Amino acid sequence: MSDPVIMVVKQTGDVRIHTVVASFEDNNIANATHIIETPNQLVLVDAQFLVPYARAFRDYADSLGKPIERLYVSHRHPDHWFGLGTAFADITVHALSETMTFIQDHGEDSISDHWKLGDLAPERVVVPKQVASPGEETIDGVRYVFDRVTDTEIDYHLTIRLPDVGAYFTQDLIYSGTHLYLTKHMGHWIRVLQEMLVSEYELFMPGHGLPADKNEVARNVEYLSAARQAIGDGLTGDAFKSFLLQRYPERKCPGIFDIYMPRLFAGASDY
Ligand SMILES: [Zn+2]
Repeated sequence: MSDPVIMVVKQTGDVRIHTVVASFEDNNIANATHIIETPNQLVLVDAQFLVPYARAFRDYADSLGKPIERLYVSHRHPDHWFGLGTAFADITVHALSETMTFIQDHGEDSISDHWKLGDLAPERVVVPKQVASPGEETIDGVRYVFDRVTDTEIDYHLTIRLPDVGAYFTQDLIYSGTHLYLTKHMGHWIRVLQEMLVSEYELFMPGHGLPADKNEVARNVEYLSAARQAIGDGLTGDAFKSFLLQRYPERKCPGIFDIYMPRLFAGASDY
């Protein structure tokens, strides 16, 4: 497997934001995980999916030479929390209560369901222990704003904003340069993204792909609108997939279609 992309994305005063993005190739979906480095510590966002990328993310965090104060899991899709069991079992993990309950109740099943991954999947489940609630908190002198966003790419999604840094950790509300994981809640999802477009934020840290600007947020709105229209016109299954592949040839990670299409068109589940 190819190496992850590792980069320092932004430095404002004594806050540095880093990202580690897994491979865009083969069946990978370019999982993006982030580090907020402040004078005394690190806060991490998401945990990677496959074992080698979770280890690479942890190794990079450790290389910064500061303690990991906590890690936030954005939502319950396994590509965001599998890596906890690989590389973050010793770290305090925060998540929305709904995410925590899901991993507690279904984490083991989720790992069994991914048996095809073999030793790319973690051997154990680590359940987040701290509840992340909407509101503000100052951590190591930096202001954080937390929100609980419902019914978009997933039922419950945590977003994190750093208003003094201009950074918005959207995770899977934005797919940067890759095909989106679509759900039947595209109308509401578009409205959430439109609010981002009129916000004062400039840097958007996605759950997949490279750090994004407002142009990419707008392209996500356009993609969602086109997909919604196509479904309204009656496209399903392979015809729907071909339509999006032809319309967005520049977007990477088409493997995502096979993950969400059984849910979107065959009623396997809502998200
Ligand atoms: Zn994801």
